[in-house]
Amino acid sequence: MIRTHDAGALRAADIDSSVTLTGWVARRRDHGGVAFIDLRDASGVVQVVIRDEEAASPLRSEYCLRVVGDVRRRPEGNENPNLPTGEIEVVADTVEILSAAAALPFPVEEYEATPVNEEVRLRYRYLDLRRPEMTRNLRLRADVTRIIREVMSAHDFLDIETPYLTRSTPEGARDFVVPVRLQPGKWYALPQSPQLFKQLLMVAGLERYYQIVRCFRDEDFRADRQPEFTQLDIEWSFCDVDDVLDLTEQVLVRLWRELLDVEVTTPIPRMTYAEAMRRFGIDRPDLRFGCELVDCTAYFAQTPFRVFLPPGAGSDDWYVGAVVMPGGGSQARRELDAWQEWARSHGAKGLAYVLVGDDGELGGPVAKNLSDSERAGLVEHTGAKPGDCIFFAAGRRSDALGLLAATRLEIGARCNLIDEARWEFVWVVEAPMFEATDDGWTSVHHPFTAPNDEWVDRFEKQPGEALSRAYDIVLNGTELGGGSIRIHRPDVQQRVFDVLGLTEEQAKGQFGFLLEAFEYGPPPHGGIAIGLDRLCALLADADSIRDVIAFPKTASGGDPLTGAPTPITAAQRREAGIDAKPDESRADSTSM
Ligand code: ASP
Repeated sequence: MIRTHDAGALRAADIDSSVTLTGWVARRRDHGGVAFIDLRDASGVVQVVIRDEEAASPLRSEYCLRVVGDVRRRPEGNENPNLPTGEIEVVADTVEILSAAAALPFPVEEYEATPVNEEVRLRYRYLDLRRPEMTRNLRLRADVTRIIREVMSAHDFLDIETPYLTRSTPEGARDFVVPVRLQPGKWYALPQSPQLFKQLLMVAGLERYYQIVRCFRDEDFRADRQPEFTQLDIEWSFCDVDDVLDLTEQVLVRLWRELLDVEVTTPIPRMTYAEAMRRFGIDRPDLRFGCELVDCTAYFAQTPFRVFLPPGAGSDDWYVGAVVMPGGGSQARRELDAWQEWARSHGAKGLAYVLVGDDGELGGPVAKNLSDSERAGLVEHTGAKPGDCIFFAAGRRSDALGLLAATRLEIGARCNLIDEARWEFVWVVEAPMFEATDDGWTSVHHPFTAPNDEWVDRFEKQPGEALSRAYDIVLNGTELGGGSIRIHRPDVQQRVFDVLGLTEEQAKGQFGFLLEAFEYGPPPHGGIAIGLDRLCALLADADSIRDVIAFPKTASGGDPLTGAPTPITAAQRREAGIDAKPDESRADSTSM
């Protein structure tokens, strides 16, 4: 037997047992001719005492060892209450080096004390993952998927795999494509999500599907985004919005209860998209603090101040809003200038402000430009208090709301208003069906999202107003996932494609198989997907989703460990048929 016990599992009850352990040298200390080794295996760490200097002398950090010895109580005063094995130690009889370790690129154990460049961590990921923090994250992730599977199978959902080599599934990103050697000039697309397949499974009568599934989206690089990521993907026939929300809540409740000992209050509150935009300027509001936006468009409808009402403004799309920074009235010139700089880095021209003195007097350059009555009522209208600062944004509604939403979050951070211990979940429901693009309309969710009852017969008349049966689950300002009740009537689906500017021909080319399936008695159905990486990062309190993925890519999409992506040889290129001309016209991938 290579070992008899797990090192980290030894306790006082094992005292006087003979044990054979295996593991890595986490730390070594020498004391009067005796070496103390922290031996680490997957279960934890135990102290090993080596009296034989000759046996001890070659041992270095991260050597892999086999130790035979006896468990004994640590001498009085040497116990370590911070360690589960801290009452005992193992006195070694023999120490066998199973394998040596080269000089380490970074200290594995003292990681916290020696920050290491992430590129280097990823290059030596197998060493990085030896760190207990990282092991803990991967264990937590395994617990997350185990609990999810328990909840889903308790509700009779079937875990069904869907293809990775397939054709385009529109989720608004670009496809990763794979050449097909045996059909030169033809390409698979990796799925942006299993959306179309899970809907086909509903047509197939499976009724309840789920999958913990990898998705692939070729999007522009952003710090905390991975080109491949995992989601809990669910689809359900004969359900309504309440069913999907309730099931998702059960998953969340179990996760928070079992992994964090936190009770999530259900039902999780719901907020319409319109309310979220009005109160927070964003569709994923952070409800851990107040500072809600105040609409000042009507208040400044007659203002002499040109910034708040330039000639020609006053259209439906013009918006002036405010957000109050508590205690911000005493900010120094330098701080106020820094806010302007900050606003510019967010693509704005600047950030108008009014300072409210302790005596209620208004200060700052904007105040002078307002009318007497505007000045008189401003504090009351915005809810500011003496000593506060009122920030304003004016412009196209979406731009101004976006700036105020970011300002609100910045205020929350700078004024320490965010209680990090709070978990504020909210459902954002009834998002619009479509949003305008330069040359038409695009789906806010995806083209298979159903319009709500009020709009189902007339969404094409006012696409910008039409509301959907979509829902997003938001936690502390982060979108965890989302889904919708789907369209199951081919005529409604066709009308959505019409709004999106897809001709019947194009729709047939891309989704003909789905439309055809819908001719065979499709059930009403709906579903949701929850991003697993983000969920785990929040549960693990990790800084980045990369810390809960075993082998993530860097922010620029590379893997320093394997060197991927790599060039391919001319022969591989030929063989894969990359440059072959397609023998028929292919429907392009969509981004709708
Ligand atoms: N397919 C969607 C996504 O991946 C989720 C859903 O609508 O169920 O975001």
